[in-house]
Amino acid sequence: MIDMKNEEITNLISSVQSGEMMDLEQLSEFIRGVANHSIPVEMIEKWLKAVHSNSITVEETTILTREMMNSGAILEWEDNQLVVDKHSTGGVGDKMSLMLAPALAACGVMVPMLAGRGLGHTGGTIDKLESIPGFNCSLSPVEMKEQVLALGCCIAAQNDAIAPADGLLYAIRDVTNTIDSIPLITASIISKKAAEGLGSLVLDVKCGSAAFMKNKEDAEKLAKSMVGAAKGLGINTTAQITQMEFPIGKYVGNSLEVIGSIEVLQGNGSKDTRDLVVMQGSALLVQSGKVNDAEEGEKLIRLVLDNGLALSYFEKMCIAQGVSVNDAKIICSNPNSILPKSKHITTFVTNESGYVKMIDSMVLAEVARKHGAGRFSLEDKIISEIGFEILVEQGQEIRQGDEWLRFHHNEELNDEDFSRLNGSISLQKQTMGKFSRLIKTIC
Ligand code: URA
Repeated sequence: MIDMKNEEITNLISSVQSGEMMDLEQLSEFIRGVANHSIPVEMIEKWLKAVHSNSITVEETTILTREMMNSGAILEWEDNQLVVDKHSTGGVGDKMSLMLAPALAACGVMVPMLAGRGLGHTGGTIDKLESIPGFNCSLSPVEMKEQVLALGCCIAAQNDAIAPADGLLYAIRDVTNTIDSIPLITASIISKKAAEGLGSLVLDVKCGSAAFMKNKEDAEKLAKSMVGAAKGLGINTTAQITQMEFPIGKYVGNSLEVIGSIEVLQGNGSKDTRDLVVMQGSALLVQSGKVNDAEEGEKLIRLVLDNGLALSYFEKMCIAQGVSVNDAKIICSNPNSILPKSKHITTFVTNESGYVKMIDSMVLAEVARKHGAGRFSLEDKIISEIGFEILVEQGQEIRQGDEWLRFHHNEELNDEDFSRLNGSISLQKQTMGKFSRLIKTIC
């Protein structure tokens, strides 16, 4: 292995800083160096900051994505037509993967899902699953493939064997404010999805004040960039741009989102969460050719949520990934009794009456992160039990003094926490129209 010289890395960084095209051979070498840990972390930080501030071209993004995909193993399937996955660009209360993987497997397609940890203020599927005692997300490529062939789904974290370059770049981006970059998000997500050997992919591009893409124009640019990169790698891909202002469903926080997911897998739960699972799942069933149209896809996903089949796949997935048979049963019947619990629960009440116009997801996410639900440095450990129960829905009528939020926390709250959380709900006097998450689909 020939290590890249510091001078070559400096040249690469200078090219990005000055808006010149990077030497593509050197870019490839740099990504190989990231994957084998031979590039110093400070140099990676500088390169990420340069790309974040100056952006890079489509050609450079394509090479970056390919090298990140090739930095580890690529799963191969005899026929990948029914091998599907979805990936979100990151939201608040965005627990969809926990339900989608088993629900899709229950519908007869295969889901070899590689997921991420929390990124910035957003939560990550892997951190959520790791709040389940014994759940192991470190699967080798061989283990992933064996589990998917046997059971229909797995959810694993990238590791030194699969998409390793993204593993390190993702962790450094999380703590260096370099997340909201179209080329970096494109390469991170599409390299992982391509390493899964997928036939079809649905991308959930979050848009709004609590997303990395704050407005529709940027969300559309990101959606087009990712759809283009994934199609270029032979994956049948669509992107759904969805609203990310109001928190998704009733729970925000790692172990609390497991509870919210189980409620939906039990056929109950929040309508907002269930509707997103049905929309994304149905799109994948259509794209893979498993069903003829969206209506048929939605019907099938609803059926497996209502008849307990998706829940039984979730239970089997837990057991296959290290959870004891007894704990898996409890997780699926009464998750609250086994998941970690916070020392305190503080309830918030409204000081006026009206219809719920908005709950500021960004405020909730930032306060939760500060109390341990997310990371600020590479060494930080997640505190699974920190998070929120949201007791009201958008458009709901509430009266002064009604409870609307419960905060699960371990440390005492200070005045700033109280003031930010009290100020995060806004009401209006009139009723409002129907709320839909879907803004636009990009094919
Ligand atoms: N999810 C990822 O895997 N990568 C990103 O950059 C953002 C969300």
